[in-house]
Amino acid sequence: MAGGFSTPLLDEIRSRVDIIELVGRSVNLKKAGENWKGLCPFHTEKTPSFTVNPKRGIFHCFGCGVGGDAFSFLMRQDRLAFPEAVRILADRSGVELPKERSPEVEGKLESLRRAMALAAQFYIDALWAEEGAKARGYLERRGVDLEVARRFGLGWAPEGWNPLLSHMAKQSIGEELLVSAGLAVRRENAPGFYDRFRGRVLFPIRDQQGRVVAFGGRGLGSEEPKYLNSPETPLYVKGQMLYALDVAREGMKQKNRAVVVEGYLDCLMAHQHGFTETVAALGTAFTSAQLSLLRRYAEEVVSVFDADAAGIKATSRLEEMLSDVMDIRNLGWSVSRTGSFEKAEYFPIKVAVLPEGHDPDSLLRAEGAPGFQARLSAAQSILEFVLERTLGEEDLGTARGRSAAHARVALLLSKVPNAEEATALAREAARRLGVDPTQLWIEAQQLQGARGRSRLNRPADTQATSTEGAKAWPPPSLAERDLMLLLLHIEEARTALLPYLEEEDWAHPGLRALLGTLRQAPAGVAPEALMTELPGEAERGLLAALLLEQAKEADLHNQVTFLQKRYDIRRRKKRLRELNLAIAQAQATGDPALPSLQAELRKLQDQAQAVLGMVIDR
Ligand SMILES: [Zn+2]
Repeated sequence: MAGGFSTPLLDEIRSRVDIIELVGRSVNLKKAGENWKGLCPFHTEKTPSFTVNPKRGIFHCFGCGVGGDAFSFLMRQDRLAFPEAVRILADRSGVELPKERSPEVEGKLESLRRAMALAAQFYIDALWAEEGAKARGYLERRGVDLEVARRFGLGWAPEGWNPLLSHMAKQSIGEELLVSAGLAVRRENAPGFYDRFRGRVLFPIRDQQGRVVAFGGRGLGSEEPKYLNSPETPLYVKGQMLYALDVAREGMKQKNRAVVVEGYLDCLMAHQHGFTETVAALGTAFTSAQLSLLRRYAEEVVSVFDADAAGIKATSRLEEMLSDVMDIRNLGWSVSRTGSFEKAEYFPIKVAVLPEGHDPDSLLRAEGAPGFQARLSAAQSILEFVLERTLGEEDLGTARGRSAAHARVALLLSKVPNAEEATALAREAARRLGVDPTQLWIEAQQLQGARGRSRLNRPADTQATSTEGAKAWPPPSLAERDLMLLLLHIEEARTALLPYLEEEDWAHPGLRALLGTLRQAPAGVAPEALMTELPGEAERGLLAALLLEQAKEADLHNQVTFLQKRYDIRRRKKRLRELNLAIAQAQATGDPALPSLQAELRKLQDQAQAVLGMVIDR
């Protein structure tokens, strides 16, 4: 996995990167002793088990088992390939990488990014030039501050069939590349290409690194479609990005809240009115991937909906999402827990509904920040919202309606991962339906069991970037674990023991891999430097866990264990000598204690073999 980069080079980068700062950009970290802790960005949890150790430059989640160094963190978080993560961190830490031929795929992504960056600048220039007057006029009519337009990098795609194509040709960027970037379209019935965006105000969509990966284009008049978006490209995967995430990141962290609206202009206007924690869901359904993105920055997510049909339709999407967002390990709630609706702090999504006929943009212009804030403050827990809808759609005056509502509520309940919220929901629903809450629970748990099984049967490739698999191993035995700790942390132990240790003697597959890697490592290497040499995620997670364990207990503890073993062996050796002597004497004198002495000897010999530390006693 070292991916063509030398170990010293990777070490250099790793040692220069401030992992607290890197992780802290997306996780709210609090200092806890020599570690920092926060909510894991890779699985859903309510108490922090995500741990970062700045001294070693590593992280580990005790909840889902994910772990690694700065490279692994960036790869996992931003879904990057290893070389890409190395490049970004090298860049940030001022380490110069040797100029070498990048792999083909990497080269392709790089050229797409370059094309997008050049196009974004071309559109920005056009907006602020003479030809952009019409677009600027439109923005002003819509109440967009020109300062905000600049901050968001808005652009103008000039009218005409190929202004972008001819501009790019001067930069030696060909038509095929522009087609791959979603910026140009091949003519259908004639040779040639034309610009995808023509005569539209453009909203650039950026990835988490702030690089433009797509555009949304708004027509100025009544042209169809009103909004034209980039197609999916290798850089832009719908449902995995949020508009303005890069701009809103700071605001979300400060306010510990994320506001999700539907449109670009809604988002811009929200920022303009001080709601700097606002992102837009980019026209697609709000996905669980998007929710987990937001959860890295804020604990509370408020989804804003219009009061009209489009907003209501969202209910069923949200209902579905409830189950998808949740990690399967969190599904085991119990009936005994209690809670109330008012205290719905565990499930992060709230729903704010706008008054009839308003979207965020129009509401902000009509009532200003206080009007919008009032709606955000009145946001309901998604569960409460969905329950109201569900009950509202059935006629509870009839037996049939009640029974339909009952079934729907049980289904909803089965998807709620949090005990307190589930309990509160069951109580409220039971009260409204006039049924026994226990009955609802039983049905919900049956449904939950059925779904749990079918989910486990899902093909593994749909989980490619999830944390599944990191914990596929059982925990190692204490003996193997302690020995590995010694090897990792005490140079002397490594030198003394490694020659005697055989991989096949180790029961734990992860530790076996660690041992193999350790053997290949040059003498004196810091254990965290093994990260990039390990074959997979699971192995890196295991190493991070071992390194953190050490950090927790401080070096002293291991030294003690180490010495303890050493003395233990000495004592055994002494007893061996004594026993041998006693046996010889017993044999000579016909002492009846002979069999018991021989038994003790055998036992000691067996134990001595098992205690690998034996060889330390040189
Ligand atoms: Zn985790």
